[in-house]
Amino acid sequence: MSSSERPLHFRTRAIHRGQDRDEATGAVVPPIHVASTFVQHQVGEWREFDYSRSGNPTRKALETTLASLEGGCGALAFASGMAATHCVTMLLESGDHIVAGADIYGGTYRLLHKIVPRSNLSTTLVDTTDLEALERAITPRTKLVWIESPGNPLMSITDIAAVAEIAHRHGALMAIDNTFATPVLTRPLELGADVVMHSATKYLGGHSDMLGGALVVRDPDLFKRLYYTQNATGGVLGPFESFLCSRGLKTLDLRVREQSRTALQLAEFLTQHPRVSRVFYPGLASHRGHALAKQQMIGGFGAMLSFDVAGTFEQAKRVCQGTKLFQLAVSLGAVESLIESPAGMSHASYDPADRAKHGITDGLVRLSVGLEAFDDLRDDLTHSLKAAFA
Ligand SMILES: *Cc1c(COP(=O)(O)O)cnc(C)c1O
Repeated sequence: MSSSERPLHFRTRAIHRGQDRDEATGAVVPPIHVASTFVQHQVGEWREFDYSRSGNPTRKALETTLASLEGGCGALAFASGMAATHCVTMLLESGDHIVAGADIYGGTYRLLHKIVPRSNLSTTLVDTTDLEALERAITPRTKLVWIESPGNPLMSITDIAAVAEIAHRHGALMAIDNTFATPVLTRPLELGADVVMHSATKYLGGHSDMLGGALVVRDPDLFKRLYYTQNATGGVLGPFESFLCSRGLKTLDLRVREQSRTALQLAEFLTQHPRVSRVFYPGLASHRGHALAKQQMIGGFGAMLSFDVAGTFEQAKRVCQGTKLFQLAVSLGAVESLIESPAGMSHASYDPADRAKHGITDGLVRLSVGLEAFDDLRDDLTHSLKAAFA
């Protein structure tokens, strides 16, 4: 087989798919198209682009790259991850039911519990690592199953292929928020998922300098329905953000692999630390989801991890506030490492009993591991842990 016949590798497609040079000037990077409207040749005869909400060349370039990376028939770029998720829920009709993971992103929880009920949709949360519990939660009105893997903040691993099979057997769509794993580490469409959602704000953009979201699907009919809904409701990604995200995607493979490697080293280091009682990272043999993660994730276990300091909420807060390289902030997935306290920050809106039920202790600390050198990050944590217990 000649090299032109075999499919291009992931990292090659991340650079070339959709990112055609500009034929008019020869520019290696396609220009950013800021026009809101496009001239037509004749009344009633539409060219590829007519109005930027309906389609924009810079957004289209990003969508083409993303569809290729997730293995979908098409992708849609949104103004934020939440706009992308909302678009999926808008496929449902009054009276329909959603089953979602118990450890979904807080903003998704809020959307499902505060906004979509206004359209008479209801949601049941289940631990999606428990497939029997998931199946029991499905009703004849269930039209959507929504999961995250790895979950947040304990990195629980859900069996994507098994959940897709259960959802389809009951006539529901299966969607997954693939923000944490990225297509570098998990390709849910190949495992049977219908919709992959991203907060492009995180790893896809990768540099903490843009907000965006995306949906990628396998089925052309589903793509048409989502495109129609996106165009009708308007939550599209702007051309400048589309450019930044395309630029980020070119190094996605390198970043995610390298960040995952450092995260594994940090997880192993923390396991040995006397002030740390538990480490949650799917790459550790001690993690509940390790065997499944080894099978389902490709070439790495992600760059998110959390750990319990053997101490109080005050001490966990001091660990978070005492680091110099790990910056105290929510969000994740960028080149700079971040640290936060789920009980005091990302999951503060849960009531304490609910947090306890989900295993989110006061001593929990969550890390988003960036691209800095392992030694520097290890020393930063060593100093902060020491000071917090001094
Ligand atoms: C950040 C995030 C979202 C929401 O995305 P925005 O771009 O902030 O709207 C959804 N899911 C996960 C897992 C996230 O981390």
